[in-house]
Order: sequence, then C-alpha cells, then structure tokens
Amino acid sequence: MTDTFNVSPVGYVRSCFKEKFAIPRQPQLAPAARGVLELVAPFDNGDAVQGLEQVSHVWLLFLFHQALEEKPRLKVRPPRLGGNQSMGVFSTRATHRPNGIGQSVVKLDKVEAGRLWLSGIDLLDGTPVLDIKPYVPYADIIPEARNTMASAAPMLIAVQWDEEALVQARDHGLRLAEPLIELIEQCLAQDPRPAYQRPTPERRYGAQFWDVDVRWHYPQAGLIQVLEVLMATD
Ligand code: SAM
Repeated sequence: MTDTFNVSPVGYVRSCFKEKFAIPRQPQLAPAARGVLELVAPFDNGDAVQGLEQVSHVWLLFLFHQALEEKPRLKVRPPRLGGNQSMGVFSTRATHRPNGIGQSVVKLDKVEAGRLWLSGIDLLDGTPVLDIKPYVPYADIIPEARNTMASAAPMLIAVQWDEEALVQARDHGLRLAEPLIELIEQCLAQDPRPAYQRPTPERRYGAQFWDVDVRWHYPQAGLIQVLEVLMATD
C-alpha cells in the first residue's frame, strides 16, 4: 500500500485557452499565449514572490485538472506518434498520468504581489498550480540531452486568413488588448487536429481563445484557413 499525501494549489491560471483542443503540446511554442497566475492566500501578499522579478522564466508544477483519473494508466498513445502507438506513460508528457502532474517552463512577463503575468503557456484556463520554481539556466539547460521520440518541435503548417476573419481577429485583439492574431496563427500552425484525421475541405474545426470562437478548415493538405473569429456563445 503506498502512502497518500495531500497537496493544495498555490494559485490558479487565468489562461487564453478555454478548452483543451488547440493548446500547444508544450510551452514556448506559442509566445502569444498569455495568462495570469492568480495566487491564493497566504501566497498572495508579495512575500512569497519577493525576488522573482530577477527571473525571466519559471517552472510551474500543476495538475491536469481536466484529465484526472482514478486508475493510473501504465501506457498511453501520444498524439505526436499519430495516436495509435502506445508507450509507457513515463516516457511521455501525456496529460493522463499518475497523480496528473504537469510541468511547464513559461516566460514571466510581470510580477505583482498576488499575481504573475505569463506567456508562452500551454495551460488550460483554471489550471491549479502546485508550485512555482525559478528557471535556473546553468542547471536546467542540458546541451547534450536527447529524446529521440520528441526530438524537435512539431512541424508547422501554413495558416492563411479569410479576409473578413482577419478583420474580426484584429478587432477582437484590440478589444482584448491581446495579440490575438499571433495567438491564433501560432496555435493553428501547430496543426491541432489529431494526426490520424484526414480532413476534407468541408470539415470545420473550432476552438475558443479568450472569449472568441475561432473557426477554420483545411482547404488542402498542409494548409489551414481561418474562416471566422466571433464572440463565443457559451
Ligand atoms: N508542458 C506540460 C508537461 O510536459 O507536463 C504539459 C504537456 S501536455 C502534452 C500539454 C497539453 O496538456 C495541452 O496541449 C493541453 O491540451 C493539456 N492541458 C493543459 N492544461 C490542462 C489541464 N489543466 N487539464 C487537462 N489538460 C490540460
């Protein structure tokens, strides 16, 4: 019988990503993906983050709160391998994992007493954060490290805009004071659809970023066209 330990979040992320679909697989892949980590008491009075302004990036340890499961999986099917090849869960960064713990190194744009402004995130809105650690380049950068299964960032595909959709994205970006066009382009260029899907041009895809619904399709292989960017109607 293994021991059980309780952990409590030190804060929650208010993120641009309102659903799991179209979130990049790893941080840093979408620098325009921004969010705010709202710290909870007693971590919100400034003491716990004193000195953090000297740091450019932080590690976040968090819970995949929308992927938690009772029974731990020993093997998973990483989307990056096409979703049909299974691997040991500990050889992947899968979301469905024992204890549901994720780790991301994200850019720290601003530090305030009760909140951290972050970018380059891969976290769903509402993600509970268990710990924050300063990135330590001399210890965290390992030039000779290798991972033959995930040796490079996902290949990017071209993203083009329907003219009206670009105007919509520009207007919503101004309203949100967020780099919405860049966010949409950076996330869709990762080609969020499952690798085994062969979408026809008629098939529509969608995801919510901030408070807008983005709709797109694949007019041809290797190309995404953004069709509309409208206020979300949830
Ligand atoms: N960088 C982290 C790691 O390596 O542990 C996360 C990698 S995981 C492959 C990234 C994916 O986790 C995102 O694409 C998103 O779909 C999913 N995700 C992010 N936040 C989540 C949450 N709170 N609950 C469940 N899934 C989440």
